[in-house]
Amino acid sequence: MQTQHRNSPSQPIPTLAADRFWQATLHRDSRADGSFVFAVRSTHIYCRPSCPARRPLRRNTVFFRTAQDAERQGFRPCRRCRPKQQDSATALVQQVAAVLANASKDSFRLGSLAAKVNASPAMLRRAFRRATGLSPKEFEQTFRLSRFKKMLREGSTITDALYACGYGSSSRLYEKTNAHLGMTPASYRKGGAGMQIGYTVANTSLGKVLVAATERGVSAVYLGENERTLVEELRKEYAKAEIVRAADGHDNWLKEIVRRVEGNAPSVDLPLDVQATAFQRRVWQELQKIPRGATRTYTQVARALHKPRSVRAVARACATNPVSIIVPCHRVIRSDGSLAGYRWGLPRKEKLLEREAASA
Ligand SMILES: [Zn+2]
Repeated sequence: MQTQHRNSPSQPIPTLAADRFWQATLHRDSRADGSFVFAVRSTHIYCRPSCPARRPLRRNTVFFRTAQDAERQGFRPCRRCRPKQQDSATALVQQVAAVLANASKDSFRLGSLAAKVNASPAMLRRAFRRATGLSPKEFEQTFRLSRFKKMLREGSTITDALYACGYGSSSRLYEKTNAHLGMTPASYRKGGAGMQIGYTVANTSLGKVLVAATERGVSAVYLGENERTLVEELRKEYAKAEIVRAADGHDNWLKEIVRRVEGNAPSVDLPLDVQATAFQRRVWQELQKIPRGATRTYTQVARALHKPRSVRAVARACATNPVSIIVPCHRVIRSDGSLAGYRWGLPRKEKLLEREAASA
């Protein structure tokens, strides 16, 4: 392996990334499709991460960023998962991402963008649908997020940045994906299988706050009196995830959440990494539009989603929100003005609303 790549123009895969790729391969994680392929030395075949075929032994497995890299080393594409077909759409998206990343103007014209990557507008539309689930226009709008650009500035490859921002997977981005939320596009398998979660607990004036996160974003924000109870809750919510106490993992995220608990306005965007149905996502995105100091009723939220009869489903989505504070479910109340319930206790909901109203 060490000499194999010497003459290859492709970058070698760092060990840490290879470990991540192997985990994604074991979990047949379709979110990883497009960000790498794995090749099997014994069969000379390469596959995308989600390939349904049997997993090879780790020691027979080599990872490549792209199908081209794998082929350069003599591997052939698998007939089941067709990694090359997958790759052409992704490659086109990556070229466009590179063009956009270097663009100085914010104007967007599909025709000229397509011309820059030697494609037709129709080809571009198809490639985007397949690789990201978004139209080129929607992609461009969400793409301009500072987070993505920041990652590139800090030296991430476009592939990694796309993946981290949730664009790496095939046709899994939901129609309404709001990149501002930083949610990853694929719904996790039930119980958070494949997630590696680190948690921290801090003291606030409302009691303990537990913040749990993966390397991609925040997965849980719980409030309570007792650390052990909160951790048990977390293990219930993500029963199949790997959960550890983080020594100092995401200090800045924790600090930001504590600030918000104390009633301060958001000062940074917090990426989320949560398991959710498409409907839950839509509700949570709607909740993030409620300004600090304001409240909405369940009925209003249901109407805003053009689902006026889904009031109860909206209430359920609020009650099951794992990232309190960031998704401000405490700002939703009953039509008669009463506060309704709160997973973390009514007194906390009351205090949060008071503080936000006072400082908004
Ligand atoms: Zn395959």
